[in-house]
Amino acid sequence: MLATRLINVGEIRTVEVPTPTPGAGDIVIQVEAAGICGTDRHLFKGEFPSVPGTTLGHEFSGIVVDGVDSGLVTGTRVTCDPNNWCGDCDQCRRGRVNLCTGNIATGIGRDGGFAEFCAFPAARAHVLPAELDALHGALCEPLACTLHGMDIGAAKPGERVLIIGGGVIGLMALQLAHLCGSEVMLLTRNPYKQDLGKTLGADWVAGTPDQVLQQWQTGADLVVECAGVSATVAMAPALTRTGGRIVILGVLPSGAQVPVEPFDLLFREIQLHFSFLNPFTHDRAARMIADGVISVAPLLSRTISLSETAEAIAQPAPDGEVRAIVVPAA
Ligand code: NAP
Repeated sequence: MLATRLINVGEIRTVEVPTPTPGAGDIVIQVEAAGICGTDRHLFKGEFPSVPGTTLGHEFSGIVVDGVDSGLVTGTRVTCDPNNWCGDCDQCRRGRVNLCTGNIATGIGRDGGFAEFCAFPAARAHVLPAELDALHGALCEPLACTLHGMDIGAAKPGERVLIIGGGVIGLMALQLAHLCGSEVMLLTRNPYKQDLGKTLGADWVAGTPDQVLQQWQTGADLVVECAGVSATVAMAPALTRTGGRIVILGVLPSGAQVPVEPFDLLFREIQLHFSFLNPFTHDRAARMIADGVISVAPLLSRTISLSETAEAIAQPAPDGEVRAIVVPAA
């Protein structure tokens, strides 16, 4: 079968590999759809650690074709939570499964979804309805991560929530804040993504920090950073209301430094939080996507084949693209 593998940092190729067989506790999934995430580009550039030679793809869904011992019936459509916590380490014993020291994430530490088939831990598969659009299942994983960030931020009805970044994470955070009854602003530079933000529930859009403060002179009660660049992390405190909260979802390259002024954060008692992965939120994400509570169709910019995947990861996303979805059967 074909699979897109990160041979080494900066070297990615779609190659012929053996079709996987299920290991202990695994099912085999015929991958229907797998999203290219900002993190895949971080992995390609070596900004996020990975295991050389791994098939990438950690946002995917598909059909169970093997591994009947799991209790999952062959033919079931599932979405895959790529994070496989051990349940026994210091962090897992405290319920902090996203911080598990033994987590071997599918698509990062073991072969993932940019392939025709994937052997996957059955315990991390979540059932999706058979009638769901096959492409939509690939959006459960980013929604699960966004849910964790929004759980931490705890947006309230009537609060001002600023979302920085108009990618999938930002456009999902926007929808979740809108569902909470908050007043929502999206800060992103691309006019197409600003328009998309308005159709998904943003009350306001901005292209620069100054435009945010023109609308909200005292800043936002909650700022959710979903861009993953130093500039947007650095700008967050100045856009936060005194007494407000910041949640950083974006991944910055390992070693990157961002200036913060502790006196300002202290004197205005701004809470600065970070949100990592998707502890116990994948089930909720699958339910919300299955029920159509979160609008995912407008986030799907294009579908590509496996033979186009390596190039798509190696290049920056084209202007205005939100999510490219790999369809191995294409
Ligand atoms: P993405 O598609 O690359 O989206 C990032 C967005 O940020 C882009 O749409 C870009 O839009 C915007 N942006 C970049 N620079 C900006 C600036 N200076 N001002 C305003 N907007 C700016 O990425 P994604 O898939 O949505 O993911 C977002 C981040 O979350 C990534 O860093 C990803 O690695 C991370 N992530 C974290 C978790 C977690 O568990 N914490 C999980 C998944 C992903 P414009 O160019 O139009 O402005």
